[in-house]
Order: sequence, then structure tokens, then C-alpha cells
Amino acid sequence: AAAAGERSQRPRNLASVQHIILVLSGKGGVGKSTISTELALALRHEGKKVGILDVDLCGPSIPRMFRAQGKAVHQCDRGWVPVFVDQEQSISLMSVGFLLEKPDEAVVWRGPKKNALIKQFVSDVAWGELDFLVVDTPPGTSDEHMAIVEALRPYRPLGALVVTTPQAVSVGDVRRELTFCRKTGLQVMGVVENMSGFACPHCAECTNVFSTGGGEELARLAGVPFLGSVPLDPDLTRSLEEGRDFIQEFPKSPAFPALT
Ligand code: ADP
Repeated sequence: AAAAGERSQRPRNLASVQHIILVLSGKGGVGKSTISTELALALRHEGKKVGILDVDLCGPSIPRMFRAQGKAVHQCDRGWVPVFVDQEQSISLMSVGFLLEKPDEAVVWRGPKKNALIKQFVSDVAWGELDFLVVDTPPGTSDEHMAIVEALRPYRPLGALVVTTPQAVSVGDVRRELTFCRKTGLQVMGVVENMSGFACPHCAECTNVFSTGGGEELARLAGVPFLGSVPLDPDLTRSLEEGRDFIQEFPKSPAFPALT
């Protein structure tokens, strides 16, 4: 009866969303939004339709990564129409960045207001048919994480992709993320190590700028899959700054194999 009750309350805007993946990281700046963005682009290249829900309310970076700052979210009879990044409408975005009058102004909200917006994101965005909904979360495990997991969990099993850099300190933070996943019933799809090594564009020699292997070791200890290492790649930085499609335009770049 409880399950039937939950089903009847299912927001109809999520009814045609097949899979939901939360992208998590222990702290900021490790490349969580980058991985969310490139994951969406890689899935589009596989012919999938993808939505990105940016619940990093205090530091939304998804609009910038798709060069969609300043675009507006419209209302339709089913709620908010997300921002489409291409004519084929294969990637759609929703972020608080599209709702602010001054997008660069920081959101200074108390927890209840943040929770209310996250609930609204879950119920009111008219995604249409999606193969994947990628949720870019804030760093750490905050109120926003609890709110999004509680709002989504009744409707779909939720996968979690955990992003870390190779240093031990970042790895320690990730251990907390994995505990959060276990406690909240998220299914950990695996750990991605980002910024692991720098492949010199001149001599192709790889320098391990930070220590190496932290993500892999962590995944092994936690008994979750290790999905791979993404090197530091100036082409990737540039393509994100310019809102370009890295997967399409930089097939020879060092980060390409890992990201595809
Ligand atoms: P987070 O979402 O974890 O705060 P971001 O995805 O915003 O981190 O990444 C921080 C910065 O690092 C961005 O400017 C991004 O372009 C850059 N960056 C992330 N990963 C890489 C990489 N593998 N190679 C080069 N630059 C990267």
C-alpha cells in the first residue's frame, strides 16, 4: 500500500526519466561539475537524451559550462521548461543560475528555502523524455544533498558517481561521501579520479602533479568500482571555458579516452 501511495504521488515530470545519477565530491574544485558536464556530453554522443539538474545552489556552474548564462527558464502548463543547449534538445539544463536576476550574485538562503527550491526542482521541471538525469550536487554532504535524495528516492533507484582528486586529503573527504551513500541508500556506481597527472603536450610524458592512485586505493578499500583517471588537460579547461563540446572537438586530447 505504501508503494502504491508513493507511486500515485510520483511527480509526472519524472515519469519519463529513465535513470538518475548524482555526482558527488568531498570538496569543491575537484571537477564535479566538469565530470557532470562531460558525462552528459559523452551520453549525448551515444545518442541519449540527458538532463542536468544543478543543485549547487550557492555555486551553480552548469550554466557557465554550457555557455548558457543569462538564458531564461520559461513556464509551461507542466511547470518550468529547462534550458536546451542544442537544437536537437538532447541536453537540457536546470539551475538556480537561470532563476536569479543577477546570476553572479551569491545565493544566501537558509536551509528551508533551499529545501523548498530543491523540492520544486524535482516536481516542477518539465524534462520530457530523458534517458539520464545527471544531478550536480554541492561539495560535501549538506542540507541540499539530504533534500535532493529525500525528494528523488521514492521514485527511482539513485546512482552515485563520486569524484575525487588523487591526494590523500581529498580521498579522506570521499570516504565521508561513501558513508553518506551507504546511509541514504544510494547505489555507488563508482569513483572517478580527476586531475590525476599532467600529460605534457610537447613530449607526451605524464607528470603526476599530485600523488597518484588515491582514488583507486579508496575504491578498492570501500569495495566499489574504480571507473578511471582523468588527467589534467588544458584542452578540457579551454573547452569548458568556451562552452565547447570536448568529446566532439578534442578526440586527440589526453582526457578524451577517460571521459568517453
Ligand atoms: P567542482 O565542481 O568540483 O567545484 P569544477 O568542475 O568547477 O569543480 O572544476 C574546477 C576547475 O578545474 C574548472 O575551471 C575546470 O575547468 C577545471 N578542471 C576540472 N577538471 C579538469 C581536468 N581534468 N583538466 C583540466 N581542467 C580541469
